[in-house]
Amino acid sequence: MKQVAELVCQEMGKPLAQGKAEVMKCAYLVDWYVEHGATFLADTEYPALPGFKKSYVTYQPLGTVLAVMPWNFPIWQVVRMGIPTLMAGNSVLLKHAPNCFGSGLACEELLSKLDIPDGLFRSLVIDVPQVTTVLEHPSVQGVALTGSEGAGRAVAAKAGSLLKKAVIELGGSDAYAILADADLDAAAEAVVNARVANSGQTCIAPKRAIVDKRVKAAFEQKVLEKVASKTYGVDFGPLVHPKGRDDVAAQVAESQTQGARLLCGGPSEPPAGDCGKSFYPPTVLTDVKPGMTAFETEIFGPVIAIIEAEDEADVLRLSNQTNYGLAGAVFTKDLEKGERLAVSEIEAGMCFVNDFVRSDPSLPFGGVKNSGLGRECAAFGMLEFVNVKTICVK
Ligand code: NAP
Repeated sequence: MKQVAELVCQEMGKPLAQGKAEVMKCAYLVDWYVEHGATFLADTEYPALPGFKKSYVTYQPLGTVLAVMPWNFPIWQVVRMGIPTLMAGNSVLLKHAPNCFGSGLACEELLSKLDIPDGLFRSLVIDVPQVTTVLEHPSVQGVALTGSEGAGRAVAAKAGSLLKKAVIELGGSDAYAILADADLDAAAEAVVNARVANSGQTCIAPKRAIVDKRVKAAFEQKVLEKVASKTYGVDFGPLVHPKGRDDVAAQVAESQTQGARLLCGGPSEPPAGDCGKSFYPPTVLTDVKPGMTAFETEIFGPVIAIIEAEDEADVLRLSNQTNYGLAGAVFTKDLEKGERLAVSEIEAGMCFVNDFVRSDPSLPFGGVKNSGLGRECAAFGMLEFVNVKTICVK
């Protein structure tokens, strides 16, 4: 476990404790599917058609499925898609991000130790143009991509042209809606923890905190206190590479030019002992408004964008004012209202009330709008790459 965690940390820079947590989460997913997977794959009985003895649905593997994966959770992303897809009877070919080829090969080595047919999971050391070649192969019957919108569109278009199934997990501009009656301490804690973890390189991190103007000043204060308590090397590491740092710095600088105010962070000297090339500290921008870069684009780094709303209706309007729809959260002491808004108002694939959004094997994971197609985890994730076959016997 330690070796894999260390590899993950070397490849993308997260602190060791977070690497270990990622590996433990993968083990939990495997245990969870071992316990529940057979139930999801069991035949489903339906009322027999008139004149027939029985009707039911049986679930059969599609064949080989290609997984195109990103670097931010080098093992978790692979395991989240790979384990249920393999358990459904498919084989999996992985194309990992180049800086995580080692993690991909480690997954292959771990799986090769199981009592399963040789080569059921292979990690290919290939580049983007070869993704098309693999997808075109007749034995490849589907593709799952986790990554950016551009990559998702390209792969979904290719899969569509070949009439092959695609599950596409993309980015987000998740909004946490903080109402006037919210527990501000809990809301600030959730926003900061979720945005600083993995140095903000998380698809479901709160990219926008939308706050009722009556509590904005108090919320900002609490956010600053929580950010100040975060330690480099423990709570967050460097960004994945210098380009990642430069992209984040440019998006923050552009937002400031557009009128956003920097409350803390921004370009800083790296802490002692850091390699110095990819450091970007937790950063808080306030007075962010529609049209500004921090509102309109996904910043893949530890940047909290605070947005002021006139009232509850405005909080909801601004939360949904995005082309993405991965996840969201509502913070209010009125639980009934929080749940109602989560169900009926927030345009997202997942919405939490009074805590930060997290993935779990037991719950479907995925988005709407430009955040993707399909779901991973739970029964939904396991049944994405199966032939849902209807059987009727007379
Ligand atoms: P990325 O550049 O799209 O890369 C992801 C994977 O797709 C890599 O293996 C990449 O290969 C490959 N790829 C890129 N362009 C491709 C193309 N045209 N055709 C086929 N494959 C292609 O994404 P990233 O910057 O590494 O990851 C960050 C993004 O992923 C963020 O937007 C984040 O929100 C999103 N994400 C979403 C989820 C989710 O579950 N919804 C989870 C994690 C991350 P190369 O590296 O070789 O280019």
